[in-house]
Amino acid sequence: MARVRAPKPVSCGILLSYKCTSTCRHCMYACSPTWRGDWISENDLEKILSQLSESVAPAPGGPSRVGINYGLHFTGGEPFLNYRLLLRAVELAEEHDIPSIFVETNCFWCASRDRAEEMLLELRNAGLDGMLVSVNPFLVEYTPFERMRVAAELSERIFSGNLMIYQPEFYEQFKKLGLRGTMKFEEYLERVGIGGLRWAELLPMGRACYRLRGIFRKYPARIFFDEDCRSSLLRSWHAHVDNYGNMITGYCAGLSLGDARRLDELVGEGVDLDERPILRMLIFEDLGSLYNFAVKEFGYMERSDGYVSKCDLCLDIRRHMAARAGACEYPELSPREFYMHLEEEPGFR
Ligand code: SF4
Repeated sequence: MARVRAPKPVSCGILLSYKCTSTCRHCMYACSPTWRGDWISENDLEKILSQLSESVAPAPGGPSRVGINYGLHFTGGEPFLNYRLLLRAVELAEEHDIPSIFVETNCFWCASRDRAEEMLLELRNAGLDGMLVSVNPFLVEYTPFERMRVAAELSERIFSGNLMIYQPEFYEQFKKLGLRGTMKFEEYLERVGIGGLRWAELLPMGRACYRLRGIFRKYPARIFFDEDCRSSLLRSWHAHVDNYGNMITGYCAGLSLGDARRLDELVGEGVDLDERPILRMLIFEDLGSLYNFAVKEFGYMERSDGYVSKCDLCLDIRRHMAARAGACEYPELSPREFYMHLEEEPGFR
């Protein structure tokens, strides 16, 4: 029997939901407003946080400081879409004495400075240590830049400097442009040029493989056949858990290592890879094995325009299989709904 022990994460993000106000072209988790809109339950949060509390490590500056790959963060989707749940999640994390807690947001909720301030103060008093404000050319297609500025300015003050802007280069770029309101990506390319993206930590994974493939170089599938994903899938330094309890390592959305509500079992007894053959191939074999399997069993055909990365190949194969496999087959392809939102077109209002 093939088993592998799940890593116990020293830093973790919890997706409260995949539901978001935006359909960002680069979103690794393929979030959007059209997701069913399930939210994590308090009961599941309690189970997950109690098991994470021993392993999550504080930021280098201490438990009340924050760092992108330290501590615990609440994310989505957009966590402020369910503010009451977010507040409860922060309270629970605080009750479990989890260090370096922050929230990642797209700032849609900052239309009113006064209301935004009230919420941030309430969150801070509940135990929140800091904020991560997302700023990039994909998000600003949906959220007016002024709202990002409101969130950043308030967070800087309320959390005594515990503010992370991801990424600060884009924040400065938009300030220099005198940007007000939103800006379509096409306009960004006209005004700034493709060179403006040189700071972007743009991982060629998730929706970017479909909606941004034009900006990447492409390669034939065989270039990636020898790659395996053991180090990504079994890394302990940063993991995510979604609202269904899926444990997602290596930023590999749609690929579940197991049920994080039973994290101690996954870590202690391990994951049965006979039940999760796609994971087995990615961890113990290579992408070539997964490709051959998908061609033989599911009639997968290589894309004629190539692949932008190994993750693009992996994802395209998984998407093909997810659309054809029975609902109970391949439990690692979870949540199945993820695979339906990858190519989603933006719904600008
Ligand atoms: S190839 Fe697949 S399993 Fe490997 S890192 Fe990329 S998405 Fe994850």
